[in-house]
Amino acid sequence: MSEAQEKPLIGTMDGLSKPKKPQSYYDAIKQKFTEERDLRLDYRPEGTQQYTSDLTGSFARYETDPYGGEIVPREPINDTVECLFIGGGFSALLTSARLREYGVESIRLVERGADVGGTWYWNRYPGVACDVISYDYLPLLDEMDYVPKNHYARGPEILAHCQAIARRYNLYELAVFQTTVTSTIWNEEEEMWQLTTDRGDHMKARFVICANGTLSKPKLSKIKGMESFKGHSFHTSRWDYDYTREDLSGLEDKVVGIIGTGATAVQAIPGLGASSKELYVFQRTPSSIDIRDDWPTDPNWARKLEPGWQAKRRERAMRGPRLTEEQRAERAAMSREEKIRRQENANIDYMMRIHKRIDEVVKDKATAEALKPWYMFMCKRPCFHNDYLPTFNRPNVHLVDTHGKGITEINEKGPVFDGTQYELDVLIYATGFEVQKTGIYNQIRGENGLDLNDKYSTGIRTLLGIHSQGYPNLFIMGGYQASFQFNLTDMLQSQGDHIAACIDHVRRHDYQSIDVTPEAEEWWVQEVIHHRGKTTRNQDCTPGYYNFEGEFQRRQDGNYNGGFPKYVTHLKEVRAQMAENFMFTKR
Ligand code: NDP
Repeated sequence: MSEAQEKPLIGTMDGLSKPKKPQSYYDAIKQKFTEERDLRLDYRPEGTQQYTSDLTGSFARYETDPYGGEIVPREPINDTVECLFIGGGFSALLTSARLREYGVESIRLVERGADVGGTWYWNRYPGVACDVISYDYLPLLDEMDYVPKNHYARGPEILAHCQAIARRYNLYELAVFQTTVTSTIWNEEEEMWQLTTDRGDHMKARFVICANGTLSKPKLSKIKGMESFKGHSFHTSRWDYDYTREDLSGLEDKVVGIIGTGATAVQAIPGLGASSKELYVFQRTPSSIDIRDDWPTDPNWARKLEPGWQAKRRERAMRGPRLTEEQRAERAAMSREEKIRRQENANIDYMMRIHKRIDEVVKDKATAEALKPWYMFMCKRPCFHNDYLPTFNRPNVHLVDTHGKGITEINEKGPVFDGTQYELDVLIYATGFEVQKTGIYNQIRGENGLDLNDKYSTGIRTLLGIHSQGYPNLFIMGGYQASFQFNLTDMLQSQGDHIAACIDHVRRHDYQSIDVTPEAEEWWVQEVIHHRGKTTRNQDCTPGYYNFEGEFQRRQDGNYNGGFPKYVTHLKEVRAQMAENFMFTKR
């Protein structure tokens, strides 16, 4: 058992193994991938503009908090803190923990929800869970002396872990909930940030950490007539349990529709299928669904864990798989083209295994065909679920495959596709979130009153995705130009460790502020551009939020593609040369 517990995050495709089939077989599949991608690009040349996250007016209800209860009245706050986090999710929690270790006392989280948790506060849809191994995903397990209950954690356990971190590090003390930061403005004279909120607050902070998450603001596909729908509707991240009831029994006599088949929908659909009178799943592109290898944590394994076990596990994961001498020699002798070809072929072998599993599980042949994803593994977030595919064998569950086109029309009765009207009682939008935007709901103005969005209008400019010149004492978490990780908390922890160390450096040296030098920022922008241009993977992939819905010409407005270990090394190197990379002012 302990060996299984030590398994890596997701199956590795090192590309070393020899292809199992003739190259013509792989080329034909790649051709089909291209056709499927082009079909979608032709339908939606507008790319990311196909979505809106401007949820105001009649769309405002898609963002209203259904979990927090009434907004608790309070007097506006007018005070000063040392460190202020915009957001109360993992970014804020794990960075605060480090700041406490450095002795920082004055820490405030300002959070839109009514509690900490971020993603895990908002996403409470039925079946919500994390498909990154819990021993890797849940942060601060060493510090919290906690071992997750299962190999994969469910949403409620993760939310409870967030709350436990907030309690353990006394973060509730100064936290402000049900409050949205609306402006963050640098006061050059005082060298302090001034923040306003939607609750009339005027707070000051020496350090501000934008911890607003990577996928926080719900977005909707712009569909003609969607506001005319007369039935009930909501977004998956604002699940309406008043309507569905906690056990979904409220759907017993309801015809339910769900738009989208991404990672969220894949987890929600099995429960909906089991509880709804009829369920219509409106699919544009299928997800890849692999086996979810879950089990309760072995108490014997947990008992034997030594202090610091999670940190050691992270270090091991960072080192990657160990290659034998022979493997290393073989890899060194391979041309770059051969390496890419072998990786692609291994990727195709994996995807064909995903297809085979669909054929084995889904009884109706047409439905099985429609559920097959035609793109390389990791073009979209891979999914792992044991009940998703069998749900399509239920007589009350109907897949409406739009073959790349998507739902483009909704009227008062429900969606219309291909001349067929789908009459629904309730329509659920599983259409995802705005991606990695810094300053959602919030206007950030730095030196000379420059709006961060204006600075970024000709391209994002940061050092390590964290510091942006002209925004002293401001730190960005989860934004672009940082590394991208399947296990996001690894990335956030690295950023949090770095930010806490920078703040500690400023405090210890009795500085007032820290800002990145223009040279260091320019160096990083060029690093990001260099690594983004190395492969054609973004172009090759089917559109999705990983490749800006096919807008692959972006240069620096994405993640750093040099790999996570290299990103972590850069974090350390930048800190080792603080004087070269940063400008400081004295108190
Ligand atoms: P996604 O953005 O991944 O999915 C949105 C879905 O909506 C896609 O299937 C998209 O189709 C579909 N869609 C959009 N417009 C239409 C339309 N007009 N008609 C039909 N379908 C449409 O959002 P999710 O909320 O599913 O997931 C977001 C992310 O959250 C994940 O990628 C993952 O990072 C994270 N997550 C993680 C989980 C975990 O276990 N760790 C669980 C759940 C979410 P198309 O593919 O064609 O664009």
